[in-house]
Amino acid sequence: MTPRVTLLAGGVGGAKLAEGLAAVCSPERLSIIGNVADDQEFHGLWVSPDIDTLTYSLANLIDRRQGWGLADESHRVLAGLERLGCDTWMSLGDRDMATHIFRTQLRHQGVRPSAIAQRIAESLGVDIDLLLPTDDPLQTTVKTEQGWLAFQEYFVRERCRPEVLEVRFEGAATARPTSEALAAIETAEVLLIAPSNPVVSIAPILAVPGIRRAIETSRATRVAVSPLIGGRTVKGPADRMLTAMGYPCSNLGVAESYAGLLDGLVIDASDRDDRTALEAEGVTVLTTDTLMTDAEEKARLAGETLAFAGALRREEVEA
Ligand code: GDP
Ligand code: CA
Repeated sequence: MTPRVTLLAGGVGGAKLAEGLAAVCSPERLSIIGNVADDQEFHGLWVSPDIDTLTYSLANLIDRRQGWGLADESHRVLAGLERLGCDTWMSLGDRDMATHIFRTQLRHQGVRPSAIAQRIAESLGVDIDLLLPTDDPLQTTVKTEQGWLAFQEYFVRERCRPEVLEVRFEGAATARPTSEALAAIETAEVLLIAPSNPVVSIAPILAVPGIRRAIETSRATRVAVSPLIGGRTVKGPADRMLTAMGYPCSNLGVAESYAGLLDGLVIDASDRDDRTALEAEGVTVLTTDTLMTDAEEKARLAGETLAFAGALRREEVEA
């Protein structure tokens, strides 16, 4: 029987490992806690990019070429909004818009955001628990030379070009964790952190009061998969952001950003030279190919990561 696995995940990198795990775990033994701090309102609709990326990927509806959004999309609504003078830098497809309309409608009815996320996932055929860390407002804002920007303004409108000076998670001080997320952490035998952006995808989940503590005190074996390959991100600003936050831009920086939360780290074979320094910090390392470009590679990396966690667990039991 596969162990009970809980994955902390952001968007594109997170969804790749989520799909791999879905291929090798029984669905009732896998839970995913997604990031909601990228959420933002557009055209009166509540958009939740990382949760949608996870949902669409697991439902096999994702646009495989870009890694986000629905496959086979059109953008007629967006063109209409543009004609009306709206800002349309956030590319929202017509079919994708249905998700945002539905989510917004239920939010107005007072349905809990987590219940909405689960309902959307179920409706699209996802049989895995997709959990939110909190139902309360939590929003990443990024300080740049242009001042403070909402995360999507920095990420999509400015294409991550401005230098990041500071990152804040608005609402984190008062956000309450969902009971489902806490339970998924407490009952996990293996707790995984996806190869997601540590600074803006995983850190906001950890910033929800109670979540970090639950991971620290969990009896699960805790393993992260690094988002760096050859010391760089596959895509996106995680490497530059690690530097901006004062961490080394390497797997050591990834491990440092997860200090106190990791038993093991999976790194790419191209970064094998990082192993000695990581092990000196008390992090056991698995070196393998971590680039996931197809379903087979996702399942293989998920399988190897679980086997690595299993071996760490046995070592612990024997020690
Ligand atoms: P976002 O919310 O869409 O930005 O996605 P995440 O935060 O979940 O993931 C972004 C990170 O995924 C980037 O830092 C990438 O380097 C990493 N990433 C993307 N694809 C892969 C992959 O195939 N393997 C590994 N190891 N990392 C990946
Ligand atoms: Ca994201």
